[in-house]
Amino acid sequence: MILLVDMDAFFASVEQLHHPHLRGKPVIVCGDPTRRGVVTAASYEARPFGVRAGMPTAEAKRLCPHAEFVEGSPRKYVEKSLELLEMFLTYTPDVEPFSVDEAFLDLSKLGERGATREAAVAMARTIQQRIADEHGLGASIGIGPNKLIAKMASGVNKPRGLTVLDEEEFRQLFWPQDVQELWGVGPKMSEHLKRLGIRTVGDLGRAGEPMLEQSFGAVGVHLKHAAWGRDQTPVVPYHEGVDPKSMGHEVTLPEDSREEAFLEGTLLRLADQVARRLRGEGFVARTLTLKLRDFRFRTITRQKALTVSVDDHLAIFEVAKALWRANWKGEPLRLLGVSASGLEHKGEGEQGELFVQDDRKKTLQEALDKVRDKLGEASVVPAGSLMHRRDTGHVPFGAMKRKDGRTRRAGPEGAAGAQAPITREGAASQVKRTLRDQKRKGS
Ligand SMILES: [Mg+2]
Repeated sequence: MILLVDMDAFFASVEQLHHPHLRGKPVIVCGDPTRRGVVTAASYEARPFGVRAGMPTAEAKRLCPHAEFVEGSPRKYVEKSLELLEMFLTYTPDVEPFSVDEAFLDLSKLGERGATREAAVAMARTIQQRIADEHGLGASIGIGPNKLIAKMASGVNKPRGLTVLDEEEFRQLFWPQDVQELWGVGPKMSEHLKRLGIRTVGDLGRAGEPMLEQSFGAVGVHLKHAAWGRDQTPVVPYHEGVDPKSMGHEVTLPEDSREEAFLEGTLLRLADQVARRLRGEGFVARTLTLKLRDFRFRTITRQKALTVSVDDHLAIFEVAKALWRANWKGEPLRLLGVSASGLEHKGEGEQGELFVQDDRKKTLQEALDKVRDKLGEASVVPAGSLMHRRDTGHVPFGAMKRKDGRTRRAGPEGAAGAQAPITREGAASQVKRTLRDQKRKGS
């Protein structure tokens, strides 16, 4: 039996907890509410107005003008998330933090106490009750024989729902539903499936394996199993947590490009994103990989092993740029990617000596990271990733010249170098980093 505990409207509920005057009101958590941005989370009171996470703040304001707009504070959410994980660990040692507000609990090693449906339901009810009593928050829990079913069951009844499904019940419930409802099927995959005549989860379950394999490779077979409610993925407890093997970012360009300054600026932005993730999760990398896809969909990847481990964007950028220079023949490019592998925990092992001890640089980097943790990724970005357009003349700080000559603010969806403010993913990686630190300290 596996449980997925999913906190209801987590960020908004934590804000309501800290600020009693927000309780019972529509609350919208976002970045700086005076600036352009997107909704990070909406309380259940705001949802009937159509407010959803990811929607521009301005649109949320139109839909629900009387809502309270609150600037999100990741530290609060991370703290609460860690408190909750600690509580889950009193039920089973096999707890996998899945995101900042979701965790899998594996009951299979508990013997009698977790083996039956009744036992799992009883435990889920107690956990739900304790989350309400001790933390003043709501959670929805899904229970199933594997992670896939637990995850999908948790979404059936929200907020404060409790849903148990076995494979049979899973199929009864989900086979009539749109194929995109299946965990792991995104909008692109769903489009592709629909072009093949697969509209529902049931269609996918009934589809021929050879056809799926031909269209999607190994993923196709996996998808068919998922449609049947079958999943072998283990719950990975954080204390034996699997470290990521690589961290990468890639981007499909808005149009094919052979404009050197633009491509270079894009590489800088990717290097910056990779470096942020490395530092965010406490890793340094020994190997860097560049990926190029040209306008004919020809893809190459080129790797370089480094003599020192790196986690800063300039070092990563220099290597990525050199690889690009050496391998690009001037054809229009469609996609660029940069990834880091050969990951080691920062400060562990012998590689410490290999770091250039530049305290000023380190202090600056930490300060910049803090600013971005607090204010969002777009608050500070390498100038080179913003100024890559040939027609960019002098523009005020934080603004970006558009093709039509007017300027606009560099908001989360605005500037080329910017991205959505650090939110769920950022908070989740902070949770993981904290757990990893605890694990290393042996607590
Ligand atoms: Mg949630």
